[in-house]
Amino acid sequence: MGDESTYLAAGEIAAAVRGGERSAVEVVEEHLAVIAGREPEVHAFNAVGDAQARMAAELIDRRVAAGEDPGPLAGVPVALKDNLCTAGVPTTCSSRILEGWLPPYDATVVTRLGLAGAIAMGKTNLDEFAMGSSTENSAFGPTRNPHDLTRVPGGSSGGSAAAVAAGFAPLALGSDTGGSIRQPAALCGVVGVKPTYGRVSRYGLIAFASSLDQIGPLAPTVADAALLLEVIAGHDPLDSTSIPEPSPSLVAGLDAGVEGLRIGVVAELMGEGVAPDVRRRVEAAAEVLAGAGAKVEEAEVPAVAYGLSAYYLIAPAEASSNLARYDGVRYGLRVDAPTTATMNVATRTAGFGAEVKRRIMLGTYALSAGYYDAYYGKAQQVRTLIVRDFAAAYESFDLLVSPTSPTTAFPLGAKAADPLTMYLSDVCTIPSNLAGDPAVSVPFGVGDDGLPVGVQILAPALAEATMLQAAAVLEDAMAGEAGTP
Ligand code: GLN
Repeated sequence: MGDESTYLAAGEIAAAVRGGERSAVEVVEEHLAVIAGREPEVHAFNAVGDAQARMAAELIDRRVAAGEDPGPLAGVPVALKDNLCTAGVPTTCSSRILEGWLPPYDATVVTRLGLAGAIAMGKTNLDEFAMGSSTENSAFGPTRNPHDLTRVPGGSSGGSAAAVAAGFAPLALGSDTGGSIRQPAALCGVVGVKPTYGRVSRYGLIAFASSLDQIGPLAPTVADAALLLEVIAGHDPLDSTSIPEPSPSLVAGLDAGVEGLRIGVVAELMGEGVAPDVRRRVEAAAEVLAGAGAKVEEAEVPAVAYGLSAYYLIAPAEASSNLARYDGVRYGLRVDAPTTATMNVATRTAGFGAEVKRRIMLGTYALSAGYYDAYYGKAQQVRTLIVRDFAAAYESFDLLVSPTSPTTAFPLGAKAADPLTMYLSDVCTIPSNLAGDPAVSVPFGVGDDGLPVGVQILAPALAEATMLQAAAVLEDAMAGEAGTP
């Protein structure tokens, strides 16, 4: 880490490739060399698509030579979380149950990246079916944090966050159901954005909890995250939850600052459970925002205190339904047995890991006759309260601020045996998923252990532009400060 040369800005790469000053093949070779050097110890990828990346790069160079413009991400390597469908290329969700399955189509985000000239570098590791906060729940072994190989990268998009932090690709895509882009971004010292629900098409994202899932960018800088979000955002007729309005331009106004904005620090997310060094960084961020002309005050969003409890009923309930399709018939793995029912059981027993089984059982229970009202129904009511409390807060504030993760990266194995402690990693990120609102994690210095701390900026639905402007103010304040990873 700390090698600035690996942090080539995506925007600069694209400009150089479009202008014919650099070849896409050269860019891809450089990144493959970085991968060859550190991937064995980091394990960010389930599969590096080197041959395909080289072929795609050659095509981009031919188009530039022919006088064509390959698009805003021309020649820029992008790492894809391995729950995004890629036609004819294995997509595993880091689960044995999808062994041997080849998606018949590309996810919309993958199509859009291709149309923008980006180069897919491979599929990144994740917690199985995106269930987890450390990437230790992968069937293919954990990813390690590039800043400290004894620590987790966060999760579930830990492979994507580690790939960006290690310089394997200047951009990556993740998915965020309860924090899975923002929490690993925070732990790996990169920028991660969960867009407004519906902003980015979920077509071709393998479903975990459909009312919460959203795809978003991971990048070393706010500007590159904004650039990637511009490319993937926008209406898609193939996703019925996709927002019809055109998405705004994000990069152009990024340096607008926060002068005159009202920004609230969420009191309920600054208390018990948040490590003192993380809290201090969020307080420092609030001071920077105030210094830049924002009116910063404490905000109250009382119902977020129940976010974690509601999420761990709603997300498993939806997961238990979504994962019913892995039955040994339609996808991937089949473990043969004398009858269909015993084959289903044998396949699911062998194919799913412990955390996925736990979620399916929790969700099935929460939805079962006699318990539905008490658990799932109650959780939906809490979700409505969270939506209302955010709406009330946004009458007084333009943006909210909190920690992204209550701690910096923890050692591998530290929470693996205790699911409840692991679930607490997402206490600050889950509320935005329940509300459907956007949020970004931006690196803001380091904790007492020298590891990255992320500050979360939350915004009302569709307010990504303002949210990213505030993130850019924090990023600028850190630029040049000693000790920044
Ligand atoms: N860590 C949370 C969970 O395990 C969130 C996961 C996610 O956002 N995909 O459910």
